Amino acid sequence: MDLTSDQLPLKICMVASEVVPLAKTGGLADVVGALAVEFAKLGHDVCVMLPAYRHVDELGYQMTEGVRLAVPSAHGPIDTRVQEVFAPPLQVQGAGRLRVFVIRHDPYFSRSGLYQEAGRDYPDNLDRFAYFCRTVMEMVIHLGEHEGWQADLLHVHDWQAALCAVYLRTLYQGRPSLTRTRSVLTIHNLGYQGVFPATQFSLTGLPLHLFTPAALEFYGQVNVLKGGLIFADLLTTVSPTYSQEIQSAEYGCGLEGVITERKGVLSGIVNGIDTESWNPATDPYLIAPYHISDLAGKARCKKALQRELGLRPLKCPLLGVIARLTSQKGIDLVIDVLPELMELDVQVVILGTGDPHYEQQVGEWAARYPGKIAVRNVFDEGLAHRIEAGADMFIMPSRYEPCGLSQLYSLRYGTVPIVRKTGGLADTVVGYTPKALKESRATGFSFTDSSSGSLLTCLLLALSVYRNKADWQRIVRTGMAQDLSWSRSATTYVHLFRDVISGARDR
Ligand code: ADP
Repeated sequence: MDLTSDQLPLKICMVASEVVPLAKTGGLADVVGALAVEFAKLGHDVCVMLPAYRHVDELGYQMTEGVRLAVPSAHGPIDTRVQEVFAPPLQVQGAGRLRVFVIRHDPYFSRSGLYQEAGRDYPDNLDRFAYFCRTVMEMVIHLGEHEGWQADLLHVHDWQAALCAVYLRTLYQGRPSLTRTRSVLTIHNLGYQGVFPATQFSLTGLPLHLFTPAALEFYGQVNVLKGGLIFADLLTTVSPTYSQEIQSAEYGCGLEGVITERKGVLSGIVNGIDTESWNPATDPYLIAPYHISDLAGKARCKKALQRELGLRPLKCPLLGVIARLTSQKGIDLVIDVLPELMELDVQVVILGTGDPHYEQQVGEWAARYPGKIAVRNVFDEGLAHRIEAGADMFIMPSRYEPCGLSQLYSLRYGTVPIVRKTGGLADTVVGYTPKALKESRATGFSFTDSSSGSLLTCLLLALSVYRNKADWQRIVRTGMAQDLSWSRSATTYVHLFRDVISGARDR
């Protein structure tokens, strides 16, 4: 085969604490699972590594006996098994190769939670994930020495995997099978940094001179993500706007200085969505499938949703919210505009769990306006699909939003997103202006200030445009026509990977 360097398949080792369908608490798992499959579909040779949680065993997927490694740790060598798992959603036929490995040391990972139990973080999380990263390094060396599989890249995700990037440039620097390996750290949410007391630093196995503000020290504590930000060869986050925002004190969660110093190697790549399970034309949760060229089914979905939720069967606009009820999602702004909205001819549905205080408040509003506001404080995948299909508008006034998925589902389902212009929301929704509408670019409505006044003004604008059926249809269809697939994101990642491997993006 005579391939140019742009065509040569890469050997990519993806390291994460969550990967669908094996372990999931949030969007990280979806992103890693989908990207792994896309990289392999593009012809690359991919290994995914995650801990062997108890839940992984309970899924009953076939596993190999695995290899045994003696993994160095602060407590001495730990007898470890690394097993390959065969999970059908993570198998790719015909293109590149995708292998999934779980790292087994039951005292660390055979527990009921991934990071916590009964709302309390496990006290040994640094120990657990430092061990996880050490094992990844040992396994990558093993693959290099025994299978000739020399990783081009360690693609590590969030703080739980960030120590791999540190180890590559410190404890494992100069190891023969790692000489050409580069590291990429993807930040999914800067809010989670892996911060631990200074007394735990020795658990990382790193030399004490790295416990300084220039490396892993953060105001007297250990900050694992900070280590990754400093040592990784390339940094990415999940939208271009978020990659800019996290360089500011407002969004940087204390790490803005470090991130700004490394902005030359930082990029933002918007996540894709699973366009098979989120497809209004084939969605099994919907009473009536529909398509960009025939939206009749959407009207039937709306009627069915009103019935399901006990809302009156009116023709008025139906506004949807699906979110964790937290201040990040700006749910308080939604609550603040409910009095004004209830004066108007609109209906509202809120699906979400989270802060009990918000759950109670939205519940009280539903009780006050039966037939006009519906609230469900449950996690219900089917209802989420039916709201995305049945609502006319989707409200997402997040304070910060690294990427956001719900607004992408809304675009695909012809439900016009109303978003705060931040992070991935700013990058994926083109806010209405008469000019953007005329040019068929508008896909939603957006506002800047994190205030209920700005949200209300934006909602009133959307409601007035809604009255013009032709304009509204244009916005709906422009949104539905967007390419939200993973293949686009994966291709962008691979371009960056090639740059970092060829040295075009030097540290
Ligand atoms: P985040 O990951 O910050 O919570 P995203 O918008 O990226 O926000 O993703 C949230 C995902 O969780 C979406 O798929 C959304 O539909 C789903 N979701 C959130 N709350 C619920 C709920 N109560 N029931 C069903 N799905 C939910």
